[in-house]
Amino acid sequence: MDKKWTKEAVLEIYNKPLMELLYEAATIHRENHNPLEVQISTLLSIKTGGCPEDCGYCPQAARYHTDIETNDLMTVSQVKAQALRAKSNGSSRLCMGAAWRNIQNNDEFDQVLEMVKTVNDLEMEVCCTLGMMTEDQAKRLADAGLYAYNHNLDSSEEHYKEIISTREYDDRLKTIENANNAGISVCSGGIIGMGESDADRCGMLVTLANMSPQPKSVPINALVAVEGTPLEDQNPVPIWDMARMVATTRIVMPKAVVRLSAGRTDMSDEGQALCFMAGASSIFAGDKLLTTPNPDINEDKKLFKILGLQPKAPFVDGEQPVSNDGYKECMSIRGNVKWNRPSHKIERNEAAKARAKEARQEA
Ligand code: SF4
Repeated sequence: MDKKWTKEAVLEIYNKPLMELLYEAATIHRENHNPLEVQISTLLSIKTGGCPEDCGYCPQAARYHTDIETNDLMTVSQVKAQALRAKSNGSSRLCMGAAWRNIQNNDEFDQVLEMVKTVNDLEMEVCCTLGMMTEDQAKRLADAGLYAYNHNLDSSEEHYKEIISTREYDDRLKTIENANNAGISVCSGGIIGMGESDADRCGMLVTLANMSPQPKSVPINALVAVEGTPLEDQNPVPIWDMARMVATTRIVMPKAVVRLSAGRTDMSDEGQALCFMAGASSIFAGDKLLTTPNPDINEDKKLFKILGLQPKAPFVDGEQPVSNDGYKECMSIRGNVKWNRPSHKIERNEAAKARAKEARQEA
């Protein structure tokens, strides 16, 4: 039976003297991975902004007043061009994100299925992050050749209620289960720096680490506080917290790809090196992470050279899916799917929404 983690046990790891924690994590990292290989992934926003959800950290939520450029769904050929560019820059994985509450059975989903097939044919790992997803939709994505599905838990179940009111934690767990049942590799992690406690950080890791199977990919993000969002005034995450979080993730999920995700622009080269030592095994490349800034690829290449790191090839941790025409037959399935909508309100989110309304009226 898989080991079951408790919050107390994970907190004990998280609170170890930092040098001990790093040493333990680095040792486990070496036992399970080639420490000189780091996967480069590209995160591509295929549909930006206008999202109906109220995630307190997100500039893409339509209800807040942020200055992001919104875009309709990209075409398949636009995505193919971006994928080829990413591949030529060393990316072995393309993660396509759409600012949707959930996948709808409509023409746009058909278009995403074509994108998945196209990128899988380029021999890149294809990941999607499209919001909540039913088992049937997961099956269609798997048939198209989807390698992974990203659906972050964001934080602990308790703290999640302080950040998002438009969907429930259980909905996220259900989507992850649907991905697993369709044979899609799960990518799920969270964000630190949203006012959560250390216990919340560890609580999220407990939920992830106790999944069976554990997620194959765990992104750890540092909040990028964007003006106009409810979390605009949050303090930056200290690098020591990021290193602690990465190291703890590595220890409780030894086989996972731990992704050093948002917030890298605020980290020094030395800080990032510390995170690689602590067990981070992937970065996101490209000048933007959906809508927030990210280091230039040439800066990343320089850092890899200094540290002696190599980009990791695709499909080292799992076989390439074989696309089959099943996804086309399913295109005839229509009808919208209903997901839960909790009734609680978050004061900070409501205040940001009111400020956005005022700003629109003044404009
Ligand atoms: S995080 Fe995703 S679901 Fe939440 S508001 Fe942003 S785009 Fe929408």
